[in-house]
Amino acid sequence: MSYSITQSEALFAQAQKHIPGGVNSPVRAFKGVGGTPIFFDHAKGAYVFDADGNRYIDYVGSWGPMILGHSADEILDAVRARMDKGLSFGAPTSIEIDMAEEVCKLLPSMDMVRMVNSGTEATMSAIRLARGFTGRDKLVKFEGCYHGHADSLLVKAGSGMLTLGVPTSPGVPAAVAANTITLDYNNLDSVKECFAQMADEIACVIIEPVAGNMNCIPPSKSFLQGLRELCTVHGIVLIFDEVMSGFRVALGGAQSYYDIIPDMTCLGKVIGGGLPVGAFGGKREIMEYLAPLGPVYQAGTLSGNPLAMAAGLAMLRAIQKPGFYDQLTARVQQMLNGFKAAADKHGIPFTHTSAGSMFGLFFTELNEINTFRDVADHCDGTRFNAFFHGMLKEGVYLAPSSFEAGFMSIAHTEQDIDATIAAADRVMAQLVA
Ligand code: PLP
Repeated sequence: MSYSITQSEALFAQAQKHIPGGVNSPVRAFKGVGGTPIFFDHAKGAYVFDADGNRYIDYVGSWGPMILGHSADEILDAVRARMDKGLSFGAPTSIEIDMAEEVCKLLPSMDMVRMVNSGTEATMSAIRLARGFTGRDKLVKFEGCYHGHADSLLVKAGSGMLTLGVPTSPGVPAAVAANTITLDYNNLDSVKECFAQMADEIACVIIEPVAGNMNCIPPSKSFLQGLRELCTVHGIVLIFDEVMSGFRVALGGAQSYYDIIPDMTCLGKVIGGGLPVGAFGGKREIMEYLAPLGPVYQAGTLSGNPLAMAAGLAMLRAIQKPGFYDQLTARVQQMLNGFKAAADKHGIPFTHTSAGSMFGLFFTELNEINTFRDVADHCDGTRFNAFFHGMLKEGVYLAPSSFEAGFMSIAHTEQDIDATIAAADRVMAQLVA
């Protein structure tokens, strides 16, 4: 049967009447790659099924959470079992203690943790806490890293490295953006220069310790290590935004993968098992600054929601099975090697990156990808878009943007990966035809 998405097309037209752009989060609209967004109906294991009944091998995994694959039995069972006790109380429950203990065990840099409802809430709250704790206003972030959509994070660098930040979205006041400094990822010299000029005004540095929002760009270890040392010297709170990398690149997150201890960590995605969850935490002395212990305010009607805690806890337990991350990493390598061999066969310039079960695909002459500019200026976005649509027709769902990372799940079998490589081979043949 030929590939058809008429149901998705009809749903997209209908959705646009009452939902801005037809979607509840912009990247879902396929603006980056063009064409009609695919409306999903259900998912199981490595596969998602769309409204037309097409099956896709999925390498998006709901943008990261689905590390066990979709609709994993242990997650669904945990949610079902918890559901009958009530959906939300707005009062403490014992399952929140279980969750906090599990998180602090798996990420020993966290003495305490506060649950929230999204990655955005986690980073926004962590930054407020760092500002309250240090009594300083400025924050440093890195070009190409995404930390959610809080005002102070929707900011890009001004005309010079240390000039005032510029909002990347209307609605973000210039006065808010002025306190955000944006530097180059993997460039420690820019951090040194910045700290030399204004370290005593900087509350925190926030970074994706493996970047996953400018496609997948792992850091150099010396960069992360240098950041750690500089932040310690200047009393600046180092925040690892592990919303994506946490429990993804390794059980202990990027901080264990690179053996660097941040002052604070933000979590999301995997920690919620597919339900809306975020978390932030870190050193006791900082976390004790948070209400109700300390003066920095933060709250949430649904924070620590029992269903979300049940899903997240089941997830955290499942990923501790021996060999879990070795298998995931091996599968990623199998796929990337296959893609590279196919690209070489067809004479297509191609590079890949990975960290644990996150990966990046780049149509580029570069052998290494280290910065946002490498992706934006040196990768062939048009070729990626053609590849994306070719793969879609072959039944493989990649992230619909050349600036997004891919994700492997434990449900992906060797056969799924062989099928994915074979599809890539056919699509690449068309790209050069
Ligand atoms: N931080 C990182 C590293 C992310 O990748 C994301 C989302 O993709 C966020 C924060 C924001 O999380 P959420 O979309 O749950 O608000």
